[in-house]
Amino acid sequence: MLFFSKITGGAATVKSQTRYLQFGLSLAFVLVLCLSWGMTLSQLRENRRFIIQGLSTQQANLTAIIAENIYQVVNQNQAIGLVAQGWIRHHQQEQPAEINNFIYSEQAFNRIVLYGVDGRKLYQTLPDFQQSITPEEIKGYLGTLASDIGDQAKILVPKNNPRPNWQLPILFPLTSGDQLEGAMLLEMNLGYLLNFLQGLDIGRSGRISIYSDQGEILARYENYGLVNIDQYASKPDYHQVDDTSHSILFTYSHETDKYQVAARKVRNYPLIISLSQGLQESLAEYYSYRSRIVMGMVILTAFGCVGFVLLLRILNRTDDYLASLKDSDAEKQALLAKLEDEHKNAVNAASFDALTGLYNRRLFVSLAKQNLYAARRNNTNYGILFIDLDRFKTINDTLGHRIGDLLLQEVADRLTGCVRKSDVVARFGGDEFVILLAEMDSLSDISMVAEKIIDTISLPCFLDGEELSVSPSIGIAIFPRDGLELEDLIRNADAAMYVSKKAGRGRYSYFDASLNNNSSIQKFELEQGVVRAIEKNEFVLHYQPKIRLDDSRVVGLEALIRWQHPQHNLLYPNDFIDCIEESGHISKLGTWVLEAACRQLVKWRGLGLQTVPIAVNVSPTEIKEKDYAENFITMLDRYELKPEDIEIEITEGAIFEDKQTLHCNLTRLADEGVTISLDDFGNGFSSLSHIRSLPIRTLKIDRSFVNDMQKSRNDNAIVTSTIALAKKLKLTVVAEGIERHDQLIHLKLAGCDQVQGYFFSRPVEEEQTREFLRKPVRSYQNE
Ligand code: C2E
Ligand code: MG
Ligand code: MG
Repeated sequence: MLFFSKITGGAATVKSQTRYLQFGLSLAFVLVLCLSWGMTLSQLRENRRFIIQGLSTQQANLTAIIAENIYQVVNQNQAIGLVAQGWIRHHQQEQPAEINNFIYSEQAFNRIVLYGVDGRKLYQTLPDFQQSITPEEIKGYLGTLASDIGDQAKILVPKNNPRPNWQLPILFPLTSGDQLEGAMLLEMNLGYLLNFLQGLDIGRSGRISIYSDQGEILARYENYGLVNIDQYASKPDYHQVDDTSHSILFTYSHETDKYQVAARKVRNYPLIISLSQGLQESLAEYYSYRSRIVMGMVILTAFGCVGFVLLLRILNRTDDYLASLKDSDAEKQALLAKLEDEHKNAVNAASFDALTGLYNRRLFVSLAKQNLYAARRNNTNYGILFIDLDRFKTINDTLGHRIGDLLLQEVADRLTGCVRKSDVVARFGGDEFVILLAEMDSLSDISMVAEKIIDTISLPCFLDGEELSVSPSIGIAIFPRDGLELEDLIRNADAAMYVSKKAGRGRYSYFDASLNNNSSIQKFELEQGVVRAIEKNEFVLHYQPKIRLDDSRVVGLEALIRWQHPQHNLLYPNDFIDCIEESGHISKLGTWVLEAACRQLVKWRGLGLQTVPIAVNVSPTEIKEKDYAENFITMLDRYELKPEDIEIEITEGAIFEDKQTLHCNLTRLADEGVTISLDDFGNGFSSLSHIRSLPIRTLKIDRSFVNDMQKSRNDNAIVTSTIALAKKLKLTVVAEGIERHDQLIHLKLAGCDQVQGYFFSRPVEEEQTREFLRKPVRSYQNE
């Protein structure tokens, strides 16, 4: 459930993130749109303003030109006025020739009419066709002119004249100082003006109007000519146009259009020129440009919107895709994590014991192998302890599995507490525990640990209110003596554990039984039992091969006695030889051994095997018996064996006492051809000079020297010098207790002849010994 919600949570986060992104993008898009529209529109507005400004300037210029032109024309009144004044003063009866000439030559004026001060018409150049102004009107004007002599001219606007008007009558006062002498009416020909205006391009909607300074419209010109001015009712406020400002600009609306107007006063005369142009026409090009731009913008906006919508959709899709990717990724991650967990659990399950937390068999094997690999280099002892709880099954069956489990956990804790951190403690299953004791200095240290374990585990414990006592049975195998491979060591430790169980539980046994301390066995029991044991055939010989180093060949066998005791299992010589010797039964046992060896040789030969000499160990007591040599030879004869078939091994202890008998026996045997070896050399006090007097042919260096040879320089020197000296005395040197390859190499280099030890073989039963006879050459190269 949690897993699922995690996944959907991931997808929701992606969605909300994308929603934010989409919102942001939309906002940005709208902003960009507004901005570009704003910029475009303001640019368009600016363009329009520019165009209108240009139009205004153009209009102002045009009106200035027109006004100037009209000024130039009207201003001719100055000259003709003087002529007219002269005529009025002096020759009122004659034809004013100059005036007539002026009218004929000047096309700008149609007619000149001269009036007296009383308003009486004095002269006119052409008849007054239209009789546009009545004498009363003239009289009135003259009255006005007389009252305000400063006016230079008066525009006469005929009231009843039909429009358009082709004439523009202008009344000029004729004055002398402040005295009004008459008036001159100049009738301007607007048709003449038309010629000039036709050259100007004012467009379809353009109008040029002439106003009086009183705002009365006098004439209007459009692109097709003078028009009827009545139809234009509206007029600008021409009072603003005075001599100082001369020119004004303004707009006004008429019907559907808006007009841009420039007005200018003709200097010194009461005439105003205005030029108005329709904005629609003036801005037509701009409008089409604007509509093109707006259309472009609309299209762009439309495309932009469509693109943006598409982008949003793609984003949505990508988002969905990403979300689903994220989902599947999260799913994958969760699966991976789950797998990792499972893998971890599996590894844990495969490495650790779930109940006790100790290593399980698999990890123990791996760790122990690493340790043993290192052990081959550092030449120290490693012990494998196989521990089984006594009567655990009964506890489990009677008190239940829960108590059983608690007990196992308690035992695991106690075991861990008994060993060092460098040691490896494992539970193999059930009530079986295995410990690897690493780098132990001596075998006694291993024994100490085993005893500590027995004491600690045997302490009572309280589980669920129950007091429980349990004891362990321990089997010990030592590396390298009990095996070089871990599997062999575990198997041997297991076997030794069974020996402990059989021997009465709550104890430990070495796989190498010779290491077991059987001192608890009553001497008396052994002394009494020996005769019976011989009769009941409880003794047995094991054989250990001697290997010649030159050719790795088995050149002899040593017979070593074991007692298959009905109560105490297999007993080793150290457990009983001394005791039997003390009891005086040793000779009996010695005879049994000798005969057993002879019988064995005969048997092997009977089986067709190539035999090698068998060496028997002779106790100091035996060898000092007077007829030992005799009995020995008799035994050989009985089994039809040659003296070289059986060798004897005596210990140093035998040399020191009763030398006479010893000497006799040894000499007799040696003379017969029996090979005599001095066993355990180096242990006692004998020196080579001691043995020179004895017929000893072989020297067996004690295994304690061989064992410590690599560690102790002294031992090394002793072994090397002993070999060298023995060689000088022409003695064959045999090294005992070879357990490792390096010892072998060292001895070979030192010139040792033969070796004997666990490295090649432990003492084994008769049947296994046959193997050495079948394949006498032993290989050790790969070891
Ligand atoms: P030993 O004559 O020196 O015999 C060699 C002892 O060293 C044997 O012990 C043998 O098992 C042990 N051994 C051989 N190779 C190795 C090795 O590589 N490492 C180690 N740690 N030990 C090795 P075992 O059989 O317990 O005999 C012990 C002693 O008992 C013998 O020492 C010998 O003195 C005596 N013994 C054995 N059999 C007889 C017998 O029939 N009669 C008499 N009188 N004494 C015997
Ligand atoms: Mg021996
Ligand atoms: Mg020995």
